[in-house]
Amino acid sequence: MEALITCLVEICDIYFQIQILYNKVGDRMKTLLLDLDGTMYRGTQIMPGGKELIHVLQEKKHPYLFLTNNSKRTRRQNAAHMLQMGYENIQEGDFFTSAMAAAIYVRKHYKERRAFVIGEDGLKEALMEQGFELCEEQSDFVFVGLDQAADYDKYSKAVNELHHGAKLIGTNHDRMLAQPNGFALGNGSVVAMLEYASNQKSPCIGKPYAPILEEALALRNLSKQETLLVGDNLETDIQLGIVHGVETALVLGGVHNEKDIDRLGIHPDRIYRDLHELLVDICL
Ligand SMILES: [Mg+2]
Repeated sequence: MEALITCLVEICDIYFQIQILYNKVGDRMKTLLLDLDGTMYRGTQIMPGGKELIHVLQEKKHPYLFLTNNSKRTRRQNAAHMLQMGYENIQEGDFFTSAMAAAIYVRKHYKERRAFVIGEDGLKEALMEQGFELCEEQSDFVFVGLDQAADYDKYSKAVNELHHGAKLIGTNHDRMLAQPNGFALGNGSVVAMLEYASNQKSPCIGKPYAPILEEALALRNLSKQETLLVGDNLETDIQLGIVHGVETALVLGGVHNEKDIDRLGIHPDRIYRDLHELLVDICL
C-alpha cells in the first residue's frame, strides 16, 4: 500500500512538472502587448524591472509590441523618448498607438479622406500614412487625440466642422491622465465635450475597445490566444483583455493597485508587483 502511495505521489509530481513546463512553453509563445505609461515608465522614469525585461525579450528574440492609448508621439518620437530615459535597442516598429488604430479604422470604414485634426504629431503622421489629407475646413472627419496646445478657438472650429457634416472620431476615451503630481484631463473628456456640442457619438477605438486590439493583432498576424496583455490600468488594459478573450497581467505601481480589483470588479489573470516579477514568472 505504501509503495502504491509513493508511486501515486511520484506520478502526480511528474504530472505537475509537465504542467509547469507546458505553461512556460506556452508563455514563450505569447507575444507581450505592453502598455507604456505607468507600466514601462512614469514620466521619464523607467519602472522597476522594465529595462531588464526588454533586454531579455530582445536577447531571446521573444516578440513584444508596445500598445498605447497615447496618440501624441509618432513611432520615432516614442522610440526616442524611451531611448532617452535609458531603454536600449527600441525600434520604431515596436509601437502601436490609438492614433494608428483610429487612422486605419476610418480608412477601412469610410472612403472620404479630409481630416480636421485636434492632436499632435503622432495623430497627424498616422493619418497621413493612411492617405488622409489634413485640412482646416470642409473636412469629412474631426479626429481628436490629446493636444496640449488646443484652445477654445480650436475646439469651436471643430464644432463648426461637426455641424457641417464632419464625423467625430476620438482616438481614445481616457477620462484622466495620471501625472507625477495628480491628474490631467484625458482625451476622452475632450471627445465627450465635442459629442455634447455636436450631438454626435464618436466610435470607440482605443483601449478597452476592440479596434486597437484587432488592428495590432492584424499588424503582427497574431491570434488572441497568442498574446498576453500587460498593463497598469484595470479599466483599459485589463478590461480590454477580459472582454475580448486575451490573457491579462496587471503590473502594480501605476494607476491601479490590488484594492482596486475588487472595487472595480475587474480581475486580471495574473498580478505582478513589478516587471521584475513578471520576468521571473514567464521564465525567459
Ligand atoms: Mg498605463
